[in-house]
Amino acid sequence: MKKSVLREYAKLIVRCGANVQKGQEVMIYADLDQPEFVQMVVEEAYKAKASKVIVEWDYQPLGKIHVRHQSVKTLGTVSEWQKARRQHMVDTVPARIHLISEDPDGLKGMNMKKVAAASKLRYPILKPYADQLEGKQQWTIAAVPGKAWAKKVFPGLRTSVAVEKLWEAILFTSRVTDDPLKAWEEHNANIKARCDYLNSLGIESLHYTADNGTDLTVGMIPEAIFCGGGETSRMGIFFNPNIPTEECFISPMKGKAEGIVYSTKPLSYQGQLIENFSIRFEKGKAVEARAEKGEELLNTMISMDEGAAYLGECALVPEASPIAESGILFYNTLFDENASCHLALGMGYADTIRDHHSKSIEECRQLGINDSMIHEDFMIGCATMKIDAICRDGSTVTIFENGNWAF
Ligand code: ZN
Ligand code: ZN
Repeated sequence: MKKSVLREYAKLIVRCGANVQKGQEVMIYADLDQPEFVQMVVEEAYKAKASKVIVEWDYQPLGKIHVRHQSVKTLGTVSEWQKARRQHMVDTVPARIHLISEDPDGLKGMNMKKVAAASKLRYPILKPYADQLEGKQQWTIAAVPGKAWAKKVFPGLRTSVAVEKLWEAILFTSRVTDDPLKAWEEHNANIKARCDYLNSLGIESLHYTADNGTDLTVGMIPEAIFCGGGETSRMGIFFNPNIPTEECFISPMKGKAEGIVYSTKPLSYQGQLIENFSIRFEKGKAVEARAEKGEELLNTMISMDEGAAYLGECALVPEASPIAESGILFYNTLFDENASCHLALGMGYADTIRDHHSKSIEECRQLGINDSMIHEDFMIGCATMKIDAICRDGSTVTIFENGNWAF
């Protein structure tokens, strides 16, 4: 890919994605396979006057080796220096940039029970830091094409050609045009207009139906609003958490979901794929989960903690989005979730509560925002998806028809 185009993309990630502020520290999380691109992002962060940029390198195969050789207790331990590091983040509120490139099958064969047990040990120790940072940081996730990932998406092609094709797909769907910053300004305005309309309806519940058997009703929190595109941190800084993004999303009322929903795309959970699955909900809780592939893993996911069996997100994405139109299955949630309507199990977003800046996280959760150590999106949208909004004034408004916006 041309260096000048990649430079524009790096700039988009720093300026529009994380919106790095003068004097701010920046954390970049990246895999080893794209050092030249990471260098560009670091340079752009300094151009945005970051005080210090820290790159945390990862190499996916090492994760597997650590899990194999360490005990659950060791894996689940948070060292004092790691706590000090989190405290530093709480004190300084750095911007976070995640550059993902991982192999969708890269963690195949890893002992997931061990991983789950270890993260259950770490979670209560790390949670107070996460809660203190909640909503304060600007952060963004964007993608770079790892070799194994590119081969998975384009299996018939030579590695170098597959990587180039994946770059093209990433840049197209991320709206890296002649003027990406302007394209994103317009895109954000469009999403905001959709959200404003949805929020004007006073929706009590959403009723999803499709010809694959999906028939699910999900209750809304009266104080919650549809959000999408960029958002504003508690520090008052506008940023775009996902590049790309197409969704209008909301966090539903914990405990209010009835019916069954069928997946329409594979779910990659902790480096392994769960395919062709259905989940049945009663009183908001996932009570039955079946999958043609990965059923055990799906059930492990749902039982990670009390909140993992409840919904944390309802997201609306038209089949006409650039990602859906590309027809590419990315095997990566950042992209695939933006190709299709989806739900998420686990943690809900407190910032979907109106005026959440004036409320504590506890207050948001009392209103019905789910809490969990997981947040896993799964795709349910398809060409026959219909969504009716049942409104508090008794009216029913169709907001989705044949997989696309009905307004
Ligand atoms: Zn989403
Ligand atoms: Zn999500």
